[in-house]
Amino acid sequence: MEILGTYNMQGPIVIVGSGISAISLATEIRANNSAVEIVIISDDREAPYDRPQLSKEYLRDGENSSFRLNLERAPDVEWLRGQRAESLNTDAKRITLSNGRSVAYGALVLATGAEAKRLPNLVGSGVPITTLRTLEDASFIREHLRPGKKLVIVGGGVIGLEVAATARAVGADVTLVEALPRVLNRCAPFKLASFIADYHANRGVAFHFDRLSKNAAASSLLLDNGRQLHADLIVVGIGVVANDALAKNAGIACDDGIFVDRYGRTTCPDVYAVGDVTRQLNPVSDRFERIETWSNAQNQALTLGRALAGGPVLPYSDIPWYWSDQYDLQIQVAGIPAGDEEVFRGRFADAQFSIIQLRKGKIVGVASVNRSREFNIFKRLIASDRLLDASILSDESINIREYVKWI
Ligand code: NAD
Repeated sequence: MEILGTYNMQGPIVIVGSGISAISLATEIRANNSAVEIVIISDDREAPYDRPQLSKEYLRDGENSSFRLNLERAPDVEWLRGQRAESLNTDAKRITLSNGRSVAYGALVLATGAEAKRLPNLVGSGVPITTLRTLEDASFIREHLRPGKKLVIVGGGVIGLEVAATARAVGADVTLVEALPRVLNRCAPFKLASFIADYHANRGVAFHFDRLSKNAAASSLLLDNGRQLHADLIVVGIGVVANDALAKNAGIACDDGIFVDRYGRTTCPDVYAVGDVTRQLNPVSDRFERIETWSNAQNQALTLGRALAGGPVLPYSDIPWYWSDQYDLQIQVAGIPAGDEEVFRGRFADAQFSIIQLRKGKIVGVASVNRSREFNIFKRLIASDRLLDASILSDESINIREYVKWI
Protein backbone atom coordinates (compact mmCIF):
# COMPACT_ATOMS: atom_id res chain seq x y z
CA MET A 1 0.00 0.00 0.00
CA GLU A 2 1.26 3.46 -0.85
CA ILE A 3 1.57 5.95 1.97
CA LEU A 4 0.61 9.57 1.45
CA GLY A 5 3.15 11.86 3.09
CA THR A 6 4.06 10.48 6.48
CA TYR A 7 0.57 9.46 7.58
CA ASN A 8 0.74 5.76 8.40
CA MET A 9 -2.93 5.18 9.23
CA GLN A 10 -2.13 5.44 12.93
CA GLY A 11 -4.39 7.77 14.90
CA PRO A 12 -7.56 9.53 13.84
CA ILE A 13 -7.99 11.72 10.80
CA VAL A 14 -9.14 15.03 12.23
CA ILE A 15 -10.89 17.42 9.84
CA VAL A 16 -11.42 21.08 10.70
CA GLY A 17 -14.39 22.62 8.86
CA SER A 18 -17.82 21.49 7.70
CA GLY A 19 -18.23 22.84 4.19
CA ILE A 20 -18.34 20.85 0.96
CA SER A 21 -14.61 20.02 1.11
CA ALA A 22 -14.81 18.67 4.67
CA ILE A 23 -17.91 16.57 3.99
CA SER A 24 -16.59 15.26 0.64
CA LEU A 25 -13.37 14.29 2.38
CA ALA A 26 -15.10 12.43 5.21
CA THR A 27 -17.41 10.68 2.74
CA GLU A 28 -14.56 9.54 0.54
CA ILE A 29 -12.43 8.33 3.46
CA ARG A 30 -15.39 6.31 4.77
CA ALA A 31 -16.17 4.91 1.30
CA ASN A 32 -12.66 3.50 1.14
CA ASN A 33 -11.97 2.64 4.75
CA SER A 34 -14.52 1.63 7.35
CA ALA A 35 -12.00 1.36 10.20
CA VAL A 36 -10.13 4.63 10.36
CA GLU A 37 -11.31 7.02 13.06
CA ILE A 38 -12.67 10.35 11.72
CA VAL A 39 -13.26 13.45 13.83
CA ILE A 40 -14.80 16.65 12.45
CA ILE A 41 -14.35 19.91 14.33
CA SER A 42 -16.64 22.74 13.25
CA ASP A 43 -17.39 26.11 14.80
CA ASP A 44 -20.74 26.11 12.97
CA ARG A 45 -23.69 24.76 14.99
CA GLU A 46 -25.71 24.36 11.78
CA ALA A 47 -25.94 21.00 10.03
CA PRO A 48 -23.73 21.32 6.92
CA TYR A 49 -25.43 22.90 3.93
CA ASP A 50 -24.95 23.55 0.23
CA ARG A 51 -23.39 27.01 0.01
CA PRO A 52 -24.14 27.70 -3.72
CA GLN A 53 -27.87 27.78 -2.89
CA LEU A 54 -27.45 30.69 -0.45
CA SER A 55 -27.43 33.35 -3.17
CA LYS A 56 -30.08 31.63 -5.29
CA GLU A 57 -32.66 28.98 -4.25
CA TYR A 58 -32.34 29.55 -0.51
CA LEU A 59 -32.55 33.32 -0.85
CA ARG A 60 -35.68 33.05 -2.99
CA ASP A 61 -37.54 30.10 -1.44
CA GLY A 62 -35.82 29.15 1.81
CA GLU A 63 -34.65 25.66 2.62
CA ASN A 64 -35.45 22.80 0.21
CA SER A 65 -34.81 19.06 0.39
CA SER A 66 -31.37 19.30 -1.26
CA PHE A 67 -30.11 22.16 0.90
CA ARG A 68 -28.43 20.08 3.63
CA LEU A 69 -25.35 18.04 2.71
CA ASN A 70 -25.82 14.28 2.93
CA LEU A 71 -24.06 12.99 6.04
CA GLU A 72 -25.43 9.47 5.73
CA ARG A 73 -22.58 8.57 3.41
CA ALA A 74 -20.09 9.61 6.10
CA PRO A 75 -21.17 7.42 9.04
CA ASP A 76 -19.20 6.77 12.22
CA VAL A 77 -17.80 10.25 12.45
CA GLU A 78 -17.23 11.95 15.79
CA TRP A 79 -18.62 15.46 15.43
CA LEU A 80 -17.30 18.25 17.65
CA ARG A 81 -19.82 20.90 16.62
CA GLY A 82 -19.98 24.53 17.74
CA GLN A 83 -16.32 24.42 18.76
CA ARG A 84 -13.50 26.45 17.30
CA ALA A 85 -10.08 24.97 16.67
CA GLU A 86 -7.96 27.60 18.43
CA SER A 87 -4.39 26.39 18.15
CA LEU A 88 -2.31 23.69 16.64
CA ASN A 89 0.76 22.01 18.10
CA THR A 90 2.39 20.15 15.23
CA ASP A 91 5.13 18.60 17.39
CA ALA A 92 2.64 17.04 19.80
CA LYS A 93 0.16 16.47 16.91
CA ARG A 94 -2.66 17.96 18.94
CA ILE A 95 -5.25 20.62 18.30
CA THR A 96 -6.80 22.72 21.08
CA LEU A 97 -10.46 23.75 20.94
CA SER A 98 -12.24 26.86 22.25
CA ASN A 99 -13.62 24.83 25.18
CA GLY A 100 -10.08 23.90 26.23
CA ARG A 101 -10.25 20.30 25.01
CA SER A 102 -7.19 18.97 23.24
CA VAL A 103 -7.64 16.51 20.36
CA ALA A 104 -4.88 14.23 19.08
CA TYR A 105 -4.55 13.52 15.37
CA GLY A 106 -2.77 11.05 13.18
CA ALA A 107 -3.50 13.20 10.14
CA LEU A 108 -5.00 16.67 10.28
CA VAL A 109 -6.91 18.16 7.36
CA LEU A 110 -7.64 21.88 7.40
CA ALA A 111 -10.82 22.60 5.44
CA THR A 112 -11.49 25.96 7.09
CA GLY A 113 -12.54 27.76 3.90
CA ALA A 114 -12.62 31.50 3.52
CA GLU A 115 -14.57 34.38 4.95
CA ALA A 116 -16.14 37.38 3.30
CA LYS A 117 -14.25 40.67 3.30
CA ARG A 118 -16.12 43.44 5.06
CA LEU A 119 -16.38 47.21 4.73
CA PRO A 120 -16.07 48.50 8.32
CA ASN A 121 -16.76 52.09 7.21
CA LEU A 122 -20.35 51.13 6.35
CA VAL A 123 -21.19 49.44 9.64
CA GLY A 124 -23.17 51.15 12.40
CA SER A 125 -25.15 53.53 10.20
CA GLY A 126 -28.52 51.97 10.91
CA VAL A 127 -29.02 50.48 7.43
CA PRO A 128 -29.20 46.67 7.65
CA ILE A 129 -25.91 45.50 6.16
CA THR A 130 -24.36 42.09 5.63
CA THR A 131 -21.97 40.04 3.57
CA LEU A 132 -23.19 36.72 2.14
CA ARG A 133 -21.17 33.69 3.08
CA THR A 134 -23.11 31.81 5.74
CA LEU A 135 -26.63 30.56 6.29
CA GLU A 136 -27.05 33.25 8.93
CA ASP A 137 -26.13 35.94 6.36
CA ALA A 138 -28.57 34.53 3.79
CA SER A 139 -31.37 34.33 6.37
CA PHE A 140 -30.74 37.99 7.28
CA ILE A 141 -31.04 39.02 3.62
CA ARG A 142 -34.20 36.93 3.23
CA GLU A 143 -35.78 38.72 6.17
CA HIS A 144 -35.18 42.13 4.56
CA LEU A 145 -35.71 41.32 0.89
CA ARG A 146 -39.24 42.30 -0.15
CA PRO A 147 -40.89 43.59 -3.34
CA GLY A 148 -40.12 47.30 -3.74
CA LYS A 149 -37.38 47.33 -1.07
CA LYS A 150 -34.21 49.10 -2.15
CA LEU A 151 -31.23 46.77 -2.14
CA VAL A 152 -27.76 48.19 -2.72
CA ILE A 153 -25.08 45.62 -3.55
CA VAL A 154 -21.41 46.51 -3.20
CA GLY A 155 -19.26 44.36 -5.50
CA GLY A 156 -19.98 43.03 -8.98
CA GLY A 157 -18.49 39.56 -8.54
CA VAL A 158 -20.35 36.24 -8.56
CA ILE A 159 -22.01 36.91 -5.19
CA GLY A 160 -23.15 40.42 -6.11
CA LEU A 161 -24.57 39.33 -9.46
CA GLU A 162 -26.33 36.22 -8.18
CA VAL A 163 -27.91 38.20 -5.35
CA ALA A 164 -28.92 40.90 -7.85
CA ALA A 165 -30.67 38.34 -10.09
CA THR A 166 -32.47 36.72 -7.15
CA ALA A 167 -33.50 40.08 -5.70
CA ARG A 168 -34.96 41.18 -9.03
CA ALA A 169 -36.93 37.91 -9.16
CA VAL A 170 -38.28 38.74 -5.70
CA GLY A 171 -39.24 42.22 -6.94
CA ALA A 172 -36.72 44.34 -5.02
CA ASP A 173 -35.13 47.46 -6.54
CA VAL A 174 -31.46 46.71 -7.13
CA THR A 175 -28.48 49.05 -7.43
CA LEU A 176 -24.97 47.63 -7.76
CA VAL A 177 -21.75 49.53 -6.97
CA GLU A 178 -18.53 48.15 -8.42
CA ALA A 179 -15.03 49.56 -7.82
CA LEU A 180 -13.79 48.63 -11.31
CA PRO A 181 -15.17 49.59 -14.75
CA ARG A 182 -16.57 46.07 -15.27
CA VAL A 183 -18.12 43.12 -13.43
CA LEU A 184 -16.46 39.69 -12.86
CA ASN A 185 -12.95 41.03 -13.24
CA ARG A 186 -11.42 38.13 -11.30
CA CYS A 187 -13.01 35.28 -13.14
CA ALA A 188 -14.58 35.97 -16.55
CA PRO A 189 -13.52 37.31 -19.96
CA PHE A 190 -14.49 40.88 -20.76
CA LYS A 191 -17.07 39.96 -23.44
CA LEU A 192 -18.95 37.69 -21.04
CA ALA A 193 -18.81 40.33 -18.29
CA SER A 194 -20.28 42.99 -20.63
CA PHE A 195 -23.03 40.65 -21.75
CA ILE A 196 -23.96 39.81 -18.16
CA ALA A 197 -23.95 43.45 -17.04
CA ASP A 198 -26.23 44.35 -19.98
CA TYR A 199 -28.52 41.42 -19.15
CA HIS A 200 -28.88 42.70 -15.59
CA ALA A 201 -29.33 46.32 -16.71
CA ASN A 202 -32.12 45.21 -19.08
CA ARG A 203 -33.84 43.59 -16.09
CA GLY A 204 -33.74 46.74 -14.00
CA VAL A 205 -30.40 46.61 -12.15
CA ALA A 206 -28.78 50.08 -11.93
CA PHE A 207 -24.97 49.99 -12.07
CA HIS A 208 -22.43 52.44 -10.69
CA PHE A 209 -19.04 51.41 -12.08
CA ASP A 210 -15.67 52.79 -11.03
CA ARG A 211 -17.12 53.83 -7.69
CA LEU A 212 -16.29 53.21 -4.04
CA SER A 213 -18.65 53.58 -1.11
CA LYS A 214 -17.65 56.22 1.44
CA ASN A 215 -20.09 55.67 4.25
CA ALA A 216 -23.70 54.83 5.01
CA ALA A 217 -26.30 57.02 6.70
CA ALA A 218 -29.68 55.97 8.18
CA SER A 219 -31.17 54.85 4.86
CA SER A 220 -28.57 55.50 2.22
CA LEU A 221 -25.11 54.74 0.92
CA LEU A 222 -22.78 57.60 -0.02
CA LEU A 223 -20.47 57.07 -2.99
CA ASP A 224 -17.06 58.69 -3.50
CA ASN A 225 -18.50 61.02 -6.18
CA GLY A 226 -21.01 62.44 -3.68
CA ARG A 227 -23.95 60.44 -5.03
CA GLN A 228 -26.37 59.21 -2.35
CA LEU A 229 -28.10 55.86 -2.99
CA HIS A 230 -31.28 55.10 -1.07
CA ALA A 231 -30.87 51.73 0.68
CA ASP A 232 -33.16 49.56 2.81
CA LEU A 233 -30.51 46.84 2.79
CA ILE A 234 -26.83 46.71 1.79
CA VAL A 235 -25.15 43.46 0.74
CA VAL A 236 -21.36 43.50 0.46
CA GLY A 237 -19.77 40.98 -1.95
CA ILE A 238 -16.20 42.18 -2.42
CA GLY A 239 -14.31 38.90 -2.23
CA VAL A 240 -12.98 36.59 0.45
CA VAL A 241 -9.88 35.97 2.57
CA ALA A 242 -8.63 32.52 3.52
CA ASN A 243 -9.21 31.24 7.06
CA ASP A 244 -5.56 30.22 7.40
CA ALA A 245 -4.72 31.62 10.88
CA LEU A 246 -4.57 28.19 12.54
CA ALA A 247 -1.93 27.03 10.06
CA LYS A 248 -0.05 30.34 9.95
CA ASN A 249 0.25 30.49 13.74
CA ALA A 250 1.64 26.96 13.71
CA GLY A 251 4.41 28.00 11.30
CA ILE A 252 2.92 26.36 8.20
CA ALA A 253 3.61 28.26 4.96
CA CYS A 254 0.66 30.52 4.05
CA ASP A 255 -0.02 33.63 2.02
CA ASP A 256 -3.75 34.36 2.13
CA GLY A 257 -4.18 30.60 1.81
CA ILE A 258 -2.29 27.51 2.97
CA PHE A 259 0.26 26.34 0.42
CA VAL A 260 -0.42 22.75 -0.61
CA ASP A 261 1.13 20.49 -3.22
CA ARG A 262 -0.85 18.33 -5.62
CA TYR A 263 -1.31 15.74 -2.87
CA GLY A 264 -2.91 18.24 -0.48
CA ARG A 265 0.21 18.29 1.71
CA THR A 266 1.13 21.46 3.57
CA THR A 267 4.70 22.29 4.59
CA CYS A 268 4.15 20.36 7.85
CA PRO A 269 4.16 16.53 8.02
CA ASP A 270 0.73 14.98 8.58
CA VAL A 271 -1.07 18.29 8.08
CA TYR A 272 -3.09 18.58 4.87
CA ALA A 273 -5.49 21.19 3.54
CA VAL A 274 -8.32 21.25 0.99
CA GLY A 275 -10.82 23.69 -0.50
CA ASP A 276 -11.02 27.48 -0.46
CA VAL A 277 -8.36 27.81 2.25
CA THR A 278 -5.62 26.37 0.02
CA ARG A 279 -3.18 28.07 -2.30
CA GLN A 280 -2.30 25.52 -4.95
CA LEU A 281 -0.75 25.25 -8.39
CA ASN A 282 -3.33 26.19 -11.02
CA PRO A 283 -2.49 23.78 -13.87
CA VAL A 284 -3.60 26.33 -16.49
CA SER A 285 -1.93 29.52 -15.23
CA ASP A 286 0.99 27.54 -13.74
CA ARG A 287 0.86 29.82 -10.68
CA PHE A 288 0.04 29.18 -7.04
CA GLU A 289 -3.47 30.55 -6.54
CA ARG A 290 -6.52 30.19 -4.39
CA ILE A 291 -9.08 28.44 -6.57
CA GLU A 292 -12.37 29.63 -5.12
CA THR A 293 -14.77 27.16 -6.67
CA TRP A 294 -17.16 24.55 -5.38
CA SER A 295 -15.82 21.94 -7.82
CA ASN A 296 -12.27 22.46 -6.58
CA ALA A 297 -13.35 22.17 -2.95
CA GLN A 298 -15.12 18.91 -3.71
CA ASN A 299 -12.64 17.24 -6.06
CA GLN A 300 -9.46 18.21 -4.25
CA ALA A 301 -11.02 16.68 -1.11
CA LEU A 302 -12.09 13.48 -2.91
CA THR A 303 -8.55 12.92 -4.21
CA LEU A 304 -7.03 13.45 -0.76
CA GLY A 305 -9.75 11.39 0.92
CA ARG A 306 -9.00 8.34 -1.23
CA ALA A 307 -5.29 8.63 -0.53
CA LEU A 308 -5.66 9.09 3.24
CA ALA A 309 -7.99 6.08 3.37
CA GLY A 310 -5.25 3.91 1.89
CA GLY A 311 -6.46 4.15 -1.72
CA PRO A 312 -4.48 5.34 -4.74
CA VAL A 313 -2.19 8.31 -4.16
CA LEU A 314 -2.85 10.48 -7.19
CA PRO A 315 -1.89 14.07 -7.90
CA TYR A 316 -4.84 16.46 -8.08
CA SER A 317 -4.71 18.68 -11.15
CA ASP A 318 -8.32 19.34 -12.19
CA ILE A 319 -8.98 22.24 -14.52
CA PRO A 320 -10.57 25.02 -12.40
CA TRP A 321 -14.15 25.72 -13.34
CA TYR A 322 -17.34 27.20 -11.88
CA TRP A 323 -20.94 27.77 -12.80
CA SER A 324 -23.29 30.58 -11.95
CA ASP A 325 -27.05 30.77 -12.51
CA GLN A 326 -28.50 34.24 -13.04
CA TYR A 327 -32.06 34.72 -14.37
CA ASP A 328 -32.35 32.15 -17.20
CA LEU A 329 -28.60 32.15 -17.84
CA GLN A 330 -26.56 29.08 -17.08
CA ILE A 331 -23.04 30.49 -17.02
CA GLN A 332 -20.05 28.12 -16.98
CA VAL A 333 -16.42 29.20 -16.97
CA ALA A 334 -13.28 27.02 -17.05
CA GLY A 335 -9.55 27.65 -17.19
CA ILE A 336 -8.25 31.19 -17.26
CA PRO A 337 -9.94 34.12 -18.99
CA ALA A 338 -6.82 35.32 -20.81
CA GLY A 339 -5.23 34.04 -24.01
CA ASP A 340 -3.57 35.57 -27.07
CA GLU A 341 -6.57 34.82 -29.30
CA GLU A 342 -10.30 34.77 -28.57
CA VAL A 343 -12.96 32.87 -30.51
CA PHE A 344 -16.67 33.58 -30.27
CA ARG A 345 -19.33 30.98 -31.14
CA GLY A 346 -23.07 31.61 -31.04
CA ARG A 347 -25.15 34.75 -30.61
CA PHE A 348 -25.50 37.23 -27.75
CA ALA A 349 -29.05 37.93 -28.93
CA ASP A 350 -30.08 34.30 -28.24
CA ALA A 351 -28.21 34.21 -24.91
CA GLN A 352 -26.41 31.10 -26.17
CA PHE A 353 -22.70 31.32 -26.87
CA SER A 354 -19.17 30.28 -25.95
CA ILE A 355 -16.06 32.43 -25.72
CA ILE A 356 -12.89 30.40 -26.16
CA GLN A 357 -9.45 31.65 -25.20
CA LEU A 358 -6.44 30.21 -27.06
CA ARG A 359 -2.76 30.58 -26.28
CA LYS A 360 -0.45 29.54 -29.13
CA GLY A 361 -3.32 27.49 -30.55
CA LYS A 362 -4.09 25.64 -27.31
CA ILE A 363 -7.28 26.26 -25.34
CA VAL A 364 -6.63 27.87 -21.96
CA GLY A 365 -10.16 29.05 -21.16
CA VAL A 366 -13.79 28.74 -22.10
CA ALA A 367 -16.85 30.65 -20.92
CA SER A 368 -20.30 29.50 -22.05
CA VAL A 369 -23.83 30.73 -21.59
CA ASN A 370 -26.60 28.15 -21.98
CA ARG A 371 -24.31 25.80 -23.92
CA SER A 372 -23.24 23.20 -21.41
CA ARG A 373 -22.61 20.36 -23.86
CA GLU A 374 -20.16 22.43 -25.87
CA PHE A 375 -18.66 23.82 -22.65
CA ASN A 376 -17.81 20.31 -21.44
CA ILE A 377 -15.98 19.49 -24.69
CA PHE A 378 -13.92 22.67 -24.50
CA LYS A 379 -13.24 22.16 -20.79
CA ARG A 380 -11.80 18.72 -21.54
CA LEU A 381 -9.64 20.20 -24.29
CA ILE A 382 -8.02 22.60 -21.79
CA ALA A 383 -6.49 19.56 -20.12
CA SER A 384 -5.13 18.25 -23.44
CA ASP A 385 -2.23 19.49 -25.57
CA ARG A 386 -4.26 19.62 -28.76
CA LEU A 387 -3.75 22.52 -31.11
CA LEU A 388 -6.96 23.97 -32.53
CA ASP A 389 -7.82 26.10 -35.51
CA ALA A 390 -9.59 29.32 -34.46
CA SER A 391 -11.42 29.68 -37.78
CA ILE A 392 -12.93 26.19 -37.39
CA LEU A 393 -13.91 26.79 -33.77
CA SER A 394 -15.83 29.92 -34.69
CA ASP A 395 -17.70 28.17 -37.52
CA GLU A 396 -21.10 27.19 -36.10
CA SER A 397 -21.79 24.86 -39.04
CA ILE A 398 -18.97 22.56 -37.89
CA ASN A 399 -19.86 19.98 -35.27
CA ILE A 400 -17.31 20.52 -32.53
CA ARG A 401 -17.59 16.97 -31.23
CA GLU A 402 -16.73 15.61 -34.70
CA TYR A 403 -13.93 18.14 -35.25
CA VAL A 404 -12.33 17.21 -31.95
CA LYS A 405 -12.48 13.51 -32.85
CA TRP A 406 -10.21 13.85 -35.87
CA ILE A 407 -7.67 16.47 -34.77
P1 NAD B 1 -15.38 38.14 -6.23
O1 NAD B 1 -13.93 38.17 -6.00
O2 NAD B 1 -15.92 37.21 -7.25
O3 NAD B 1 -15.90 39.60 -6.62
C1 NAD B 1 -15.69 40.72 -5.83
C2 NAD B 1 -16.04 41.98 -6.61
O4 NAD B 1 -16.07 43.09 -5.74
C3 NAD B 1 -15.06 42.29 -7.72
O5 NAD B 1 -15.77 42.63 -8.87
C4 NAD B 1 -14.29 43.50 -7.16
O6 NAD B 1 -13.81 44.36 -8.17
C5 NAD B 1 -15.37 44.17 -6.33
N1 NAD B 1 -14.88 45.01 -5.24
C6 NAD B 1 -13.83 44.78 -4.42
N2 NAD B 1 -13.72 45.76 -3.49
C7 NAD B 1 -14.75 46.63 -3.72
C8 NAD B 1 -15.19 47.81 -3.10
N3 NAD B 1 -14.58 48.30 -2.02
N4 NAD B 1 -16.29 48.43 -3.60
C9 NAD B 1 -16.93 47.92 -4.69
N5 NAD B 1 -16.55 46.79 -5.31
C10 NAD B 1 -15.48 46.14 -4.83
O7 NAD B 1 -16.02 37.85 -4.79
P2 NAD B 1 -17.54 37.61 -4.36
O8 NAD B 1 -18.47 37.91 -5.48
O9 NAD B 1 -17.66 38.32 -3.07
O10 NAD B 1 -17.60 36.06 -4.12
C11 NAD B 1 -17.05 35.54 -2.94
C12 NAD B 1 -16.72 34.09 -3.08
O11 NAD B 1 -17.86 33.31 -3.31
C13 NAD B 1 -15.76 33.82 -4.19
O12 NAD B 1 -14.82 32.93 -3.65
C14 NAD B 1 -16.60 33.16 -5.21
O13 NAD B 1 -15.88 32.28 -6.03
C15 NAD B 1 -17.62 32.43 -4.38
N6 NAD B 1 -18.86 32.25 -5.13
C16 NAD B 1 -18.89 31.40 -6.16
C17 NAD B 1 -20.04 31.26 -6.89
C18 NAD B 1 -20.09 30.35 -8.03
O14 NAD B 1 -19.13 29.63 -8.28
N7 NAD B 1 -21.19 30.35 -8.75
C19 NAD B 1 -21.16 31.99 -6.59
C20 NAD B 1 -21.11 32.86 -5.55
C21 NAD B 1 -19.93 32.98 -4.83
